[in-house]
Amino acid sequence: MTIDYQRLRLDGVYRQNDAGQLMLRVKVPASVLSVPQVEALCILAESFSNGRLHLTCRGSVELHGVEHDRLPEIFRQLAMVGLTTRGACGGAVRGISCSTSAGPGLGTVQRVVRRLHRHFTGNPHFEGLPKKFKIGVESGYDGARHLIQDFGIVHTGNGRFDVWCAGGLGREPQAGFLLCRNVVEEELLSLAEAVVRVYARHAPAGKRLKHVAREFGRERLRELIADACVPAPPTKPSLNEALDVGNGVRLDIPVFAGEIEAAQLRLIARAAAVHGDGMLILTANQDLALFLPDQTVLERIRNELTGQGLFPGTAETAITCRICPGNHECRMGLAPTRDVARQVIAALGPQARTMTWAVSGCPNSCPQPQLADVGIITGKLVKADDGSRTPRFDLYRRNGDGLGTAVATGLDLNGLLAEVGKLG
Ligand code: SF4
Repeated sequence: MTIDYQRLRLDGVYRQNDAGQLMLRVKVPASVLSVPQVEALCILAESFSNGRLHLTCRGSVELHGVEHDRLPEIFRQLAMVGLTTRGACGGAVRGISCSTSAGPGLGTVQRVVRRLHRHFTGNPHFEGLPKKFKIGVESGYDGARHLIQDFGIVHTGNGRFDVWCAGGLGREPQAGFLLCRNVVEEELLSLAEAVVRVYARHAPAGKRLKHVAREFGRERLRELIADACVPAPPTKPSLNEALDVGNGVRLDIPVFAGEIEAAQLRLIARAAAVHGDGMLILTANQDLALFLPDQTVLERIRNELTGQGLFPGTAETAITCRICPGNHECRMGLAPTRDVARQVIAALGPQARTMTWAVSGCPNSCPQPQLADVGIITGKLVKADDGSRTPRFDLYRRNGDGLGTAVATGLDLNGLLAEVGKLG
């Protein structure tokens, strides 16, 4: 049977390698999973994947090494717990990234993400787009993730939001620009719709909204968006949009490179079920968090999980480092990112261990290296005289409010380790 890999993308499936294995990406509304959803994902990982789950920095979950003929059963089991892969890849509104930093605005932000997710997911008016369309909702300006979204929303308090647009990374990184200030929550949906419509109408196939902004200029793009804006009918939020996740004391659980065994994830989910609110948060740094009633319970759970092999206390998990799958699992990957990250971390001086890091397996920049204090991007492969091909890395630093920029390019691994050894 010939598999139409292009068509599979809209259902959140990418071809992983020439052997026909697939990567399946599951959208997680507001980056929050219930315990039954975690259990369903663990069963899928053990039954149809490699027993592990990959947590992305946009709050999605990936299964790797999936066989094509298992997809219907996987989709069925996901639907049983209210999860979907629809639009997680391909030309669609992708999984909406949601702020996961604790704070008073977290509930508001989660509510906005749930509403947008519900509206755009599987909506045929917003599928078949020229390329991906990324929305992110943040509870503040820390981390600057609003800069890299096609449509970035920042909660500024009192039910008001700043909206940024036309940002993106990849081979042509471009920071988004401020589209409008002080938008009320009720207007966000119609504004998002307008931007997606303008994107669908004016972007050539394979191009992001940032391309339209470059071609037309910001002011013309603003006019097009204003013309496309149709006021949304008044709606009242449904009860399930405000899950009120994030109360109590927060236990953050480090997960190196977002790679976690299903058996370990089950232990964390059990703690959330017995002692917490039955929910787990997938953080923006590919880690996990749960909320517990008080500090005493938190210490007990931390000790129990430590006894089960979590919180290993190694440098790898002590450092904030986002790492994509690289050529371990990704067809686009040019370098074994987890191995590179381990060597980089081992080479760091004490000061550099307090910085944030990101290691990207290709210029697509999925782990957002331009938003880390130090970013590493695998730029290309170089052929040696013996025919072998070795990766070359670009080193990025971020010092101001914008995106990080390259400070050294074309480094081989030894050159990269020498450069990072000087940091700090
Ligand atoms: S950055 Fe490149 S290698 Fe890494 S996950 Fe994205 S596409 Fe794959």
